[in-house]
Amino acid sequence: MKFYSTNNKNLRVGFKEAVFNSMPQDKGLYMPEHIPHLDDKFLNNLDQYTLPEIAYHVAQNLLGDDIPADDLRAIINDAINFYAPIVKLEKNVFVLELFHGPSLAFKDFGARFMSRVMAYFLEEGEKQLDVLVATSGDTGGAVALGFLGVPNTRVTILYPKGKVSHIQELQLTTNGQNIRALEIDGTFDDCQALVKQAFTDKELNEKFRLTSANSINIARLIPQTFYYFNAYAQLLRQGISKAVFCVPSGNFGNIGAGLLAWKMGLPVEHFIAATNANDTVPAFLKSGVYEAKPSVSTLSNAMDVGNPSNWVRIADLFDEDLDTVRQLITGYSYTDEDTLAAIEQLSKDDNYVACPHTAIAWKALKSYQQEHTADDTACIFLSTAHPCKFPDVFKPEIAEKIKIPAQVSELEEKESHAVSLGTSFEEFKRYLLNNA
Ligand SMILES: *Cc1c(COP(=O)(O)O)cnc(C)c1O
Repeated sequence: MKFYSTNNKNLRVGFKEAVFNSMPQDKGLYMPEHIPHLDDKFLNNLDQYTLPEIAYHVAQNLLGDDIPADDLRAIINDAINFYAPIVKLEKNVFVLELFHGPSLAFKDFGARFMSRVMAYFLEEGEKQLDVLVATSGDTGGAVALGFLGVPNTRVTILYPKGKVSHIQELQLTTNGQNIRALEIDGTFDDCQALVKQAFTDKELNEKFRLTSANSINIARLIPQTFYYFNAYAQLLRQGISKAVFCVPSGNFGNIGAGLLAWKMGLPVEHFIAATNANDTVPAFLKSGVYEAKPSVSTLSNAMDVGNPSNWVRIADLFDEDLDTVRQLITGYSYTDEDTLAAIEQLSKDDNYVACPHTAIAWKALKSYQQEHTADDTACIFLSTAHPCKFPDVFKPEIAEKIKIPAQVSELEEKESHAVSLGTSFEEFKRYLLNNA
């Protein structure tokens, strides 16, 4: 498969180049030059396949012969080695739990697949790959754990001091090996600015083989399609064939992958994009006018994005035919107050504790369901992180219900290490050069 830039369809690169570049020079995003429609035999019999089998079939169709069959199978079996169950909460209401991977967030799917693909493509004797990643919490953990111990790679994570939760911080700082954590005395935006500047710095680029691991990498998008197919397979096993997916959205990579799955033939009736107060896309879906805004901070901070970078991919998937987009996707946005109320209601109604991002999706799903769906249609909301990653959000009587996974208790035992830096680029650069 070749990949073009959303800014220039004549530009074509292979998968390896798209993965290592992350972003084309023209600042577009990579997209597959054609979207394969999966065969009916596969789609009609999805319920016969396991998650890794589904993942292999989907990836194989998208990537063609970029990675030989046996190697692709091995990458998938190693990367996608945890479950993504749907859990029924009420009639026609299911939650798709995407937090059973090592970092307890859906970003494990993208990060684990991408890290293994990068390691696969690094040829013998090639220069070490230096991954720089800025995180507001979840991305860093997924990327760190995705690359942990992967040969010939090193990850440097920048996170804003005091602005990630305790568990998130432990996930960033207790890895050792080829992972190092930098605690920046600033905001997430400062972290991101440092990383961006590093990519344009001549000296750093001469010295290191830098790559970013952010959510625009095509190797993160592709594995996120797997769990949509797999969720649908689980519905089929329950005799349900009509599905609506509701996705808590920030950079719109997750829902973008769902739409890609739809384009590949997954028969989804409708998508719901649920956001916090950063409502650029819901506002666009209502008005038809796309207006990027500065981001505002909320309780669901992994979705604090004012100009979602994957939106151009979605526009591209639909050839800029925005009427179709608006027919297929409905947007909802909620305040922090709504979020807290949703967490409480869901806990009361269904005895289910959701993280703040997930609770927004539940609320959007409920609103949509009341207005729209038929009795034979299942609504599935995606749970993007385990609630234990956001302990400060919950009232004690709700926090009490959260079962802490074993990985977390183990983290508490480990030694934590981070280097503290300010927001100056020169200081950051000096650190990188002196710690090569
Ligand atoms: C990253 C993240 C999101 C947003 O996903 P996008 O693909 O950026 O839309 C939602 N919830 C959680 C918990 C996340 O970590």
